[in-house]
Amino acid sequence: MASEQRIGWGWPVLSRKAHFFNNDAVSICRRWMYTGPVDRGDFKSIDDCAACRRWADRHAATSAAPMPEAGQGGDDAQES
Ligand SMILES: [Zn+2]
Repeated sequence: MASEQRIGWGWPVLSRKAHFFNNDAVSICRRWMYTGPVDRGDFKSIDDCAACRRWADRHAATSAAPMPEAGQGGDDAQES
């Protein structure tokens, strides 16, 4: 019940870019696992992961952001 929410930008140790985590140990781009602290909200770094940045922008970093859904929006939502 008291599970801590971890929604925001985090910096995996070996990553040179910030990745977005949505209450999950795996980043939005699915490339990184990370369980450390994250920067809440719409914090922006000059070194954000492009895929995570796009997702965060689309969802405006809301506290109840849903997980990405395939086909959502209909535009270039494909992540390689
Ligand atoms: Zn990422």
